This record gives sequence, C-alpha cells and structure tokens, in this order.
Amino acid sequence: MNHDNQLNTTPNIKDFNFAVDRFADIEILRFRVPDFEKLSLKQKELIYYLNQAALEGYDILYDQNNKHNLCVRRTLEAVYENYVSDRKTAEFENLFTYLKRIWMGNGIHHHYSEDKFVPEFSESFFKESVKSIDPANLPLSENETIDDLIVRLLPVIFDPTIYPKKTNQEDGVDLIRTSGNNFYGDDISQAEVETFYSNMKNPDDKKPVSYGLNSKLVKESGVLFEKTYKIDGLYGSAIAKIVGWMEKAATVAENDNQKDVINTLIDFYKTGILRTYDEYSIKWVKNVSSLVDFVNGFTETYGDPLGMKASWESLVNFKNLEATKRTEIISSNAQWFEDHSPVEPGFKKEEVKGVSAKVITATILSGDCYPATPIGINLPNSNWIRHEYGSKSVTIENITEAYDQASLGNGFNDEFMWSEVERQCAKDFASLTNNLHTDLHECLGHGSGKLLPGVDSDALKAYGSTIEEARADLFGLYYMGDPNMVELGLLPTMEAHKAEYYSFIMNGLMTQLTRIQPGKNIEESHMRNRQLIASWVYEKGKADNVIEMRKRNNSTFVLINDYEKLRILFGKLLAEIQRIKSTGDFDAAKNVVENYGVKVNSKLHVEVLERYKKLNLAPYRGFVNPVYELEKDSSGNITDVTISYDENYVDQHLRYAKKYSNLPTYN
Ligand code: ZN
Repeated sequence: MNHDNQLNTTPNIKDFNFAVDRFADIEILRFRVPDFEKLSLKQKELIYYLNQAALEGYDILYDQNNKHNLCVRRTLEAVYENYVSDRKTAEFENLFTYLKRIWMGNGIHHHYSEDKFVPEFSESFFKESVKSIDPANLPLSENETIDDLIVRLLPVIFDPTIYPKKTNQEDGVDLIRTSGNNFYGDDISQAEVETFYSNMKNPDDKKPVSYGLNSKLVKESGVLFEKTYKIDGLYGSAIAKIVGWMEKAATVAENDNQKDVINTLIDFYKTGILRTYDEYSIKWVKNVSSLVDFVNGFTETYGDPLGMKASWESLVNFKNLEATKRTEIISSNAQWFEDHSPVEPGFKKEEVKGVSAKVITATILSGDCYPATPIGINLPNSNWIRHEYGSKSVTIENITEAYDQASLGNGFNDEFMWSEVERQCAKDFASLTNNLHTDLHECLGHGSGKLLPGVDSDALKAYGSTIEEARADLFGLYYMGDPNMVELGLLPTMEAHKAEYYSFIMNGLMTQLTRIQPGKNIEESHMRNRQLIASWVYEKGKADNVIEMRKRNNSTFVLINDYEKLRILFGKLLAEIQRIKSTGDFDAAKNVVENYGVKVNSKLHVEVLERYKKLNLAPYRGFVNPVYELEKDSSGNITDVTISYDENYVDQHLRYAKKYSNLPTYN
C-alpha cells in the first residue's frame, strides 16, 4: 500500500484546507486531529476500533429520522453512481444537490430547521432516472418492481404535506402524529404515548431509568409495546457490528475501568436493559483518568417531541491536555460559582459534585454528531445520575478551530457589527470567549441548580429543552462578566467579555435569523433559547437604554450601551429560569418561551436575510471525517495507525454507504 500522502505529523494550521464542499445552505469543512501522532500505538489502536464502532452505526439515525430515509438515500445513491445519460443537465445537478442534502440531514429533513427539503428536480426526471438504471442496484424488497418503489417514494420526496416536519414542537397539535420521525408507529397518538409511559413510571422511584430511551413504540392489534434497539432486536444488524469492534476495543483499553465501561456498554447493547444503561453511564462518568474516551449509543432526546426517545450518535476523542488546564480552573472553582450565582438559595445545589471538565480532540463523528456536530458535550442526561455522580463536560476544540479558521475574513462582522470597536474586540477575544462560554455552559451551567423534591424532571414537557439550554447559557453569560474571571486567569482583561456579550446579543436578536426561512418561526430549542435571552434582556433594559437597535443607511444594528447593566439583567433572567426549572412551573416556561423565543420580527427577518444573502455565506456547516488505516508488518502485527485528510464529502458518503451500511432498507 502506498502511504506517501499520509502524514506523520499534524498538518500546519496555515496550510490546512478547512473548506471541502459547498451546496444549498451548507458548507462542509474538515477538521485537524492535532497530536494524534503523539499517542501511543495502543491508544491509536483503541481509537481505531472505537472509530470503526462509530461508523458501523451510520444507518441507524437515518431510520430513526424517518422510516423511508434509507430507501430514499439508497435509491438516489444508486442513480448518482449508475446514471449513464447526460449528467451535465440541471435536473441531474439538482438531484445530486438533493442527495448531498440528504447526507447532511441524515434523511429527508433539514438537520436544523427540521423541515422537509424541497427537491429542485422534477418528478418525471426522478422516474426516468430511476427506471434507467439496473434494478439490481436499487433497494427493492422481495417481489417489488421499480414502479412500486417509485410510487412509494414520490410522495415522500415531492409531496410537501407528507412528513412536512421531522420533530414538530408546535403548540396545540398532536406532536406525535405531526412529526415525521420514526420513534413511534403509525396511528399512535400523543395521548396514548403519554398514558403508556406515565403508567410505566413509579413516582416514588428516586432512581428512574430513562423510560422509552432505546425503543420504538408500536401498536399491533390495538396493543402498544416497545421494539427495543438491541443486538437481537430493532437495529440488531448494525448493533452487532458495533459490539464486534467494541469487543476489540476492550482488549486494548487504557485501564481496567475503561475496559469495564466498554464491557458494560456491550452488555447494554446485547440486552437493551435500561438499568444496565444507567450502570454504564455511571461507570462512564466516573472514568476520568483515561486519555481516550467516546460516546456511542442512543443519547440525546431532542429528536423526540416528547423528549424520551434517543437518537443514535457516536464521537470518539482524546484529551487536549493543554486546553484542559482552562477548564480545570473552572471545575476546581465549581462550588464558588454555584454559591455566588444570582439564583435563589433554595434552588442551588448545596454541594456541586464531579464537574469534570476537559477539552477534547475529536477523531471521528457519526450518527447525530455527523455531518453537523456539537461543539460541546455534557453527559449523561439522566437527572438522578447527574445529581449523584455529576457529569462529564467537554469542549471539542479541534471542531471550534475549524469553524473559527473557516470564518476568518468572510465579511460577516463587517456587515453586521456596529463599528470597528466591536470588530476589533471580536478579533482580539472572540475565539477565546467563545470557547470559554461553551466551557461555562457545559461544565457549570447544565450541572448547576436542583429540582425541588417531588418535581417531575419532565414537568416542562416540550419547553424543557429550551429552558435547560437557556439556564446553561445564562450561567455562562452571567459569569463571563464577573471581575473574578481575570483573577482566576480565565480572561486576560475584563474588556474581553464584551466580545461574547456583543456577539451573543447580536446573534440572538438578529443574525441567527439567517437560519430561518422567510415566514417561519423559531422551532429549534437552542435557537429559541438564544432569542429568548436576547429579546428578554432587550425588553427589560429598554427604560435604561441598555441595548439599542439603531438604523444606519437603512440597515439595523445592535448597540450595547451598558455592559454592566446587561450583566445584571442576565442574572435576573437566570434566577427566573432556574425558578421555573426547580419548581417545574410549566405555565411560566410556556409563557417565557412563547413570548420571547418563538416569534420572529418579520420585517427585521427580511432585512437580515437580504444583507446576509449578499455575503454569499452558508448558514450551516457540516464536516467530513479523516480516514484512518491500520498499518501492519509482514506477519500481520499492527505497527501504526495512519490518518489522512483528503477524502471529499461525496466520496466519503458513498464509501460509508458501501462499507458501513448495515441495516435493511426498512426496519
Ligand atoms: Zn447545552
């Protein structure tokens, strides 16, 4: 094998080409994996096996997002690879772009807006192109004809009234029946789901499992039951492959605790027992000494409108030792932060435990972390485990590096920031303050505060995620402006916090609207949270002119006139949001989210979209993974793991679809 193009050292940041692809509203980037070459052979091998386990789950999220997703993806991939007529036509180009969007969304819905994509190729071209290729390449089930396949997929792709939304959060409708995802069988109502799970819950259980987390709820002959995701259950063929690599990983674990973590996860994948998942989560959160770590499983519940069913994801990583020093300062002062927060004493944790903070370098992204990926992780999600054992918080600095590097000098700040003062502040400090806000959000924000005894952790229902994100963001914002940040060595000068305050408010009041289609409201919970915070402090600070929206040459700008008062307002809102969470005040959660977080100022929206359009930037970004290969000597012993960065977006997805596509087309 020729390894000439593979690198023994991390490529220099200045020579690295972060941009990979550009289509629709998406830009695809690549990320570096600094210092991978400095790991021991055993650590590299461990990462290699965990990476493989990550990729083997590639199909799962597609099926969770919509039951037709794998069929749509496989059909279009077959057309893309086998179509022999003219590929230079607009129809073919548009079909290709649609396929790229499918890969980005892990299905027929946009990864962020959750709306179904509108194809720009015609139904007749779809029919003609599918019919033109060898049926052997199509995902036909037994006795199925090409015409059957086309008839089934036409409405899925082209009819805007079928599955219009992946996860519906709209108030006042049946959220289960109006969501396009595949966590519940057809013809199951929200009321049925709620009754099913409330019957399961024991209100006296102090250590409840995460009911419904790893299953699809279905109805047969009028009876509801769960189809569990496990090695001999739903998604079993992918889970078996994941387990196979996990077993290899266990043989090269860094220590016995880590081996135990891996083996307990294997156990969970084999049995599907949620108590075992909790055991795994506890072992995982306690294992902080290992350099290599991973997430692999049914993890986040944002995709379920009722917040129970978890989407599959994986992320493998190792500790960034240099940057971790910053978060160690935060975590070693966790109790001080909790004690001095503006929250009412009864809602605070008496003792903040186990806030383990670290900065990591991602090696691979998969499932719900791919191609779009979070920049921080805080797990586990189970409230009682967090309460008793704390949580693990990480910032993924090689991902934020890619974002920052790709954004330098793209004209955005010139267009939207009020003056050179804000722009210079951003240049000097934004990279640092952005990372610091993420650290505070993940290490302290999510772990702070407590529920009053007897309050159901699901009491805020569909508003729960937005309130939780607001809580974490506000905790970070409040402390960002604390003079102690300089003393603690977290900020070089107090001037720096203005970079984060300004960009947060500008984003929440204005520029995040670039991600919303004209005429739509805000659905996604992180975005709702950001507008909620920005528009609440704007309104409450109006009398003192804390924040101003000022026009210049017909363009609207955000000005912050009083940073100190802004910080006080962040503190007031934090106290109220924590009260809502601690007491499970559903009505207050609904009011604050609906009044401040959802509705869009349509005139400003149009203006922002027009200004943004002129910049010709992509509002969303995704990633391709590096490629890892085992190097072996003549007797088959592993001698090294190499990493290369040159695979493009299309080749990567087509390769994954061949190598890691483990599920049947329908599950
Ligand atoms: Zn968060």
